[in-house]
Amino acid sequence: MKGVGPARGAMLQAKGIATVEDLLAYVPFRYEDRSNVKTIAELAPGEMATAIVEVRSARLSGFQRRGLGLFEARFTDASRHTLAGKWFHGAYLNNVLAPGMRLALYGKVEYDNYSGELTMLHPEFEILTGEDEEGEAALHVGRVVPVYEAVSKITPRVLRALMHRVLETLRPVEDPLPAYLRERLKLPDRWSAIRETHFPPAGADLRLLNAFRSPAQFRLILEEFFWLETGLALKRGETRLLPGIAFALTDRAREQIKAMLPFKPTAAQKRVLGEIARDMASPHPMNRLLQGDVGSGKTIVAAEAAVIAIENGCQVAVLAPTEILAAQHYFYLKRLFSKLNYVAVLLTGSLSAREKSQLKKLLAQGLAQVAIGTHALIEKDVEFHNLGLAIIDEQHRFGVMQRLGLVQKGVHPDVLVMTATPIPRTLALTLYGDLDVSVIDELPPGRKPVVTRHVTEDQVERVYSFLKKQIDQGRQAYVVYPVIEESETQAVKAAEKMYRHLSSEVFPDVAVGLLHGRLPAAEKEAGMEDFKQGRVRILVSTSVIEVGVDVPNATVMVIEQAERFGLAQLHQLRGRVGRGADQSYCVLVTEKMNDTARERIRTMVESNDGFYIAEMDLKLRGPGEFFGTRQSGLPSLRIANILRDREVLEIARREAVDFVAAPPSAGELERAMVYIRDHWQRRYGLVQVG
Ligand code: ADP
Ligand code: MG
Repeated sequence: MKGVGPARGAMLQAKGIATVEDLLAYVPFRYEDRSNVKTIAELAPGEMATAIVEVRSARLSGFQRRGLGLFEARFTDASRHTLAGKWFHGAYLNNVLAPGMRLALYGKVEYDNYSGELTMLHPEFEILTGEDEEGEAALHVGRVVPVYEAVSKITPRVLRALMHRVLETLRPVEDPLPAYLRERLKLPDRWSAIRETHFPPAGADLRLLNAFRSPAQFRLILEEFFWLETGLALKRGETRLLPGIAFALTDRAREQIKAMLPFKPTAAQKRVLGEIARDMASPHPMNRLLQGDVGSGKTIVAAEAAVIAIENGCQVAVLAPTEILAAQHYFYLKRLFSKLNYVAVLLTGSLSAREKSQLKKLLAQGLAQVAIGTHALIEKDVEFHNLGLAIIDEQHRFGVMQRLGLVQKGVHPDVLVMTATPIPRTLALTLYGDLDVSVIDELPPGRKPVVTRHVTEDQVERVYSFLKKQIDQGRQAYVVYPVIEESETQAVKAAEKMYRHLSSEVFPDVAVGLLHGRLPAAEKEAGMEDFKQGRVRILVSTSVIEVGVDVPNATVMVIEQAERFGLAQLHQLRGRVGRGADQSYCVLVTEKMNDTARERIRTMVESNDGFYIAEMDLKLRGPGEFFGTRQSGLPSLRIANILRDREVLEIARREAVDFVAAPPSAGELERAMVYIRDHWQRRYGLVQVG
């Protein structure tokens, strides 16, 4: 297109803008009302205004070192009055503003008591001269003006001109949204929505625009969500039609479950097992997400599902993200299953080749009913005799590919994904849109909420004396160090140092243990077992214990350098205590904190509610980081924002589900499928699970 040569083309491409359609999806991130352009003479202190001015003088004054300078400019216009502009830290403007330039200035007008001049502090401005793309001046002033985020060196102003040109050149396209939907939700047609999102009509409501809720913006956001959710609904429908295993919930299976259970399940556990059993009984594969806060008792539900599969002559695989967690599951399940004479094996990376090949043989011949393991379980040469149920724990740590890798070891086995990261429901629906969701929203009886306290490092002596008291009362404690991405070495060092300090200086007569990811598997297991049996009273650890450790007698969780942990991780760690009848405590020890760290700590002290904490986490980090980019499988949205537009997502999802269940006509559904295939495949591929 005119105005986009190789250089600009490359810049756009790097931003993911490869086509005119992509360009139109690059919508303004805010709008400015420049409809009310005034002359300097007309400006009054206190108002927000736009003025078209010429630069008289422009210079940097004050401390010029380190960009601290004050940049001052003086402007004039046809009214011959003058206006001052001031920018603190304005050194960057030195090569930008020069006498003679014409600018559109937008900002708050103030009266400077000191100089007696009308002044704008840090006004927005746009240079009206010197740009080849300037286009119609009317594009940039005298209206509500779209402001784009610069794409590399392509300025907002040039983008505005490009958008305008595209919109002038293109012919309206057919509206892909079903007509009934447009009518019912009173949505503008697609073409007007695109046009008015880029160039709002005269009199458009600036506040609505900047909240992304003008009718035009709403339509585009809803549309994006609608296609995503329709794609997911179709996908869900497809999986539901695949042939799967119809597990029978026989009396014998029921009896076996009863014989296995060490306690009475909670109402929530019963309800969730009912949902799972119904899925398993259907002749199509189950794809279910089991959500529940830490300690809510997901494992036992998974074990019940396993019994159903095994009693139907099938094998069960349990995939865990870490060796420690895999070992935990192994011991927990082995104990449960030993009553039923099932054979369970633990398959992890640290086994010797010989051990591995023996276990693999057991699995391939169907002599072991349950395989628990880490990534080692997904390796190519691991074969099952008859895999019927795949259980995947802590889903957010696995990529979609790994989930697939396990599933492919059977013929359309049932899949149960467990996560302790309580994802807000609307987000779960999008993130795991191809899965049905079950939630355990109740903790086992007799749990007392963990008391959480924050102390700074200089008060650590008080923490120690508190620890001592708890130990003397027969309780146990964890002391944990953060592992920051890829720098486990540091955490291990800190943990080792703390271990020596605690064991020889602070608590010379208490049994202190050390556990971290670098230890050989056998030592890790032994260390865990020592703690579990109470031979070790204080366990110093890196965050390898973050998930899955279950020692009800442990009542204190001390988290060192708590400011370095994310909220979800802190909550997970805290979930390691409060598992017995005794009052438990979580102590967050911090060194130096920035504002978000402070906010995280405050959230932890204030709440025990995993869902609330997940919401805060999402707010503090933003969706991209919350889910992690690579593994999240979160579709890349262009116009919609999952955080800002959640209520629109809800509407879109409802409509999409209805549309797929009861399309107005077969032709309309067909059209939607083609549209999704042509327009969404690249992005939608991300959420495909298999
Ligand atoms: P999650 O995996 O959801 O974090 P677990 O499955 O590890 O939770 O369960 C936490 C603890 O609660 C375990 O010790 C488990 O045995 C126990 N538990 C689970 N369900 C019940 C129940 N209904 N009654 C009593 N204890 C339970
Ligand atoms: Mg089934």
